[in-house]
Amino acid sequence: MEQLLGAHTSISGGVSNAVDLAEKLNFTAMQIFTKNNNRWFAKPLDEKEIGTYISKLNSSHIKIVVAHDSYLINLCSKDLDMLNKSRESFIDELHRCELLGIPHLNFHPGAHLGQGEEDGIKLIAESLNIAHLKTPGYNVTSMLETTAGQGSAIGYKFEHLRKIIDLVDDKKRMSVCIDTAHIFAAGYDIKNTTAYRKVINDFDSIIGLDKLKCMHMNDSKKPLGSKVDRHEHIGKGFIGLEGFTNIMNDKKLNPVPKVLETPKGKDQLEDLENIKTLKSLIRNSKLKSS
Ligand code: ZN
Ligand code: MN
Ligand code: MN
Repeated sequence: MEQLLGAHTSISGGVSNAVDLAEKLNFTAMQIFTKNNNRWFAKPLDEKEIGTYISKLNSSHIKIVVAHDSYLINLCSKDLDMLNKSRESFIDELHRCELLGIPHLNFHPGAHLGQGEEDGIKLIAESLNIAHLKTPGYNVTSMLETTAGQGSAIGYKFEHLRKIIDLVDDKKRMSVCIDTAHIFAAGYDIKNTTAYRKVINDFDSIIGLDKLKCMHMNDSKKPLGSKVDRHEHIGKGFIGLEGFTNIMNDKKLNPVPKVLETPKGKDQLEDLENIKTLKSLIRNSKLKSS
């Protein structure tokens, strides 16, 4: 099976424009914001825009779309107003995804801002339970993204995500996204092949590969364990081509959609280069065995 590959794609001018751009760039997967990512709320999606988006998507080569939530949302804020605003905004994002038929809403677990990780984790799970109760029967999952551990960010250890999922009542509503730059900065060595195997085995035993629904394919501008989140073009950072060779040839990760979040201009031509690089790393087993 061919791996689903694409990138975070601009929704400038409306969500349906992202489909046009992704199709033009030959993506088979894409990630979008369903609204301005620096705003708490946006005007509701109108029916015409939803219809256009869905019909364009259905006649495109894009097999999967995931959404990324607003950067403002912190589901474990210790400020009650911010916490409530985050919860309402997150629920609105789930609703927008559901309207667009998007199966996964990617989000950063949260920043505990000094409360401590344990309390932060409990608050995130409480926020998710509330969000799921307010969106009964929705198909969209809440997709936890691994983090670099910058500041007080939760999610730089697979165990954090496990604990959150354990505290969420409706586990069907939960999924996970690995961001390669984030886990590398968090200290998970995916560059060395032996270490890489252990990282994926650990992920499988702690969280379960069945929960892994997306990967963010970013090289890292910062070294292993730096805890600093800076994305770099594929092969140009500290993960390097070695690390991405491990991933692109891992059969267990073959069915997982892979999207770039690397630097890009308006036309996203940089994404084409990065996808070309990723594809070039795939070893042709047929040629090899013959
Ligand atoms: Zn993210
Ligand atoms: Mn990411
Ligand atoms: Mn990042």
